[in-house]
Amino acid sequence: MKTTATLPRPSVSTLYLSAPEAAELIRQKGLQNCIAGIADNIKADFLRWNDFDKSARVANHSHDGVIELMPISDDVSYSFKYVNGHPRNHRFGLPTVMAFGVLADVATGCPTFLSELTLTTAMRTAAMSAVAARALARPNSRVMALIGNGAQSDFQALAFQHLVGIEEVRLFDLDTAATKKLADNLVGSGLRVVICASTADAVRGADIVTTVTADKTNATIITPEMIEPGMHINGVGGDCPGKTELHADVLRASAVFVEYAPQTRVEGDIQQMPADFAVTELWEVLAGQKPGRADAQQVTVFDSVGFALEDFSALRFMGDAAAELGLGEQVALIPEMDNPKNLFGVLRQSAGRVSRPDLRLAA
Ligand code: NAD
Repeated sequence: MKTTATLPRPSVSTLYLSAPEAAELIRQKGLQNCIAGIADNIKADFLRWNDFDKSARVANHSHDGVIELMPISDDVSYSFKYVNGHPRNHRFGLPTVMAFGVLADVATGCPTFLSELTLTTAMRTAAMSAVAARALARPNSRVMALIGNGAQSDFQALAFQHLVGIEEVRLFDLDTAATKKLADNLVGSGLRVVICASTADAVRGADIVTTVTADKTNATIITPEMIEPGMHINGVGGDCPGKTELHADVLRASAVFVEYAPQTRVEGDIQQMPADFAVTELWEVLAGQKPGRADAQQVTVFDSVGFALEDFSALRFMGDAAAELGLGEQVALIPEMDNPKNLFGVLRQSAGRVSRPDLRLAA
């Protein structure tokens, strides 16, 4: 039987970008440029929404958290992200959200890029929030309340400053140390930073309200009496069954926009609403197929949960940037085979190929 290749064999090596190298990439390119580049990719990919094979993410729930897999593909590339959400992880000195992911070649299935996605998720979530706010918030929005001042919040503040034109951020977190961390990190950013005593205090007078809290409960961070005409609410932390941030009456009184409705109806703040509650998918607004904000008085809500397409867009950005800057290393994730039907033969080929210090001696 014929086993020889009839087409040139593509490389099966995978570019690997570790967390330290992703941080170096962000330092070299500049955080604002990275968020802006990811936002451009997200917008371009949302505008070709129907090119993608989409599904709601697969979630494995446990007592303290969730682990999710987020796949998506077009005709050329496939990606998935592994991400968790464990709001009580700080007890162990671990972050709430940790992630990594892969880009692969659809034609062959070869994984081409394997990357950290913890830093990248913070940038892509901030970029997504800004893309939504540019389409939905009043254009003259200058003041943003930022409720929840943990790992994602710095990225949100800077994305809104650079992509939306926010000049003042009003901060509140139950944990005053988190707020101090955020305020310290924003020194020199050019943002006016106001530390507030409560959510209501922070929200009063704001054009945009970003909620990015982490608690595995049906919280009501934003209640109807806090809402002022024309506000845009960027609800980021309600992203899992049983984990919400907005009072149901806030949703009832607003025009609600989502990423991918089948996923958001399960995970977003609208999980509290009936299955036929009216929402608009953001891509329809970006593509000019549906209206966004009706007028300056309307309250708009972006019920963000995080959709696989945003990670696809972010992975493309990070892969291109890593290649441009010569960062990352090629790793052999898939065995090289002289004969693709002789996987067993790899065991003989690789004899003596791996050299590594004997860790048992070091222990
Ligand atoms: P984090 O744990 O680092 O920070 C969350 C902060 O929220 C903490 O400082 C906590 O004290 C604060 N908080 C909790 N309850 C509060 C309340 N009632 N009022 C005020 N502050 C409160 O988490 P993070 O990495 O910043 O993530 C924040 C949230 O965003 C999480 O729920 C996460 O799942 C979600 N998230 C969503 C997306 C998305 O695409 N929508 C992406 C990433 C993270």
